[in-house]
Amino acid sequence: MAFRYKCDQNTDMNTKKVEIYFYRYDTLKEIIEEHYQTPFNELSDFQVCGGDGRGGEYNLTFEEMIENIKLMACFGFACKQDGKNEIHFWVDIDNVDPIDFIGLIAHEKGHLLRPWKKTSIDEELKADRYADTATLAFKVACDVLGIIYSKEGYDITGCVDGMQE
Ligand SMILES: [Zn+2]
Repeated sequence: MAFRYKCDQNTDMNTKKVEIYFYRYDTLKEIIEEHYQTPFNELSDFQVCGGDGRGGEYNLTFEEMIENIKLMACFGFACKQDGKNEIHFWVDIDNVDPIDFIGLIAHEKGHLLRPWKKTSIDEELKADRYADTATLAFKVACDVLGIIYSKEGYDITGCVDGMQE
């Protein structure tokens, strides 16, 4: 399923309207195959390394990566193809924590913003800043507007106390 939104895209010099095309996948297998351009059963030897968003690096087996994605219940990647900004994603809507999905979409949107960072770790950290911003905004909005989307809700008491000091 594909759909698209128009949104502001900041560049160094100006802000322009761009379109972002979203592609939603029905299964994790399909999006993994698209992301790695390889059939799923040929990926088992694959080692995954990347940034953990806190300046560290990780190394995972393919199996571990899949287990992590299933726990998170969402996965995505951003790319630019034929001049089109694209965000591809899969989400298990019965099990995902909304905040993880919001963070994912914001993170991938962050990747579409220029300039790109020189190293992939720095690029991941850049994208994570967008995710941090979006998830904080969601938490605050839920608490202030009284939007309860999960049993626990979010406790932002700490933030409020901090600001009053
Ligand atoms: Zn990323």
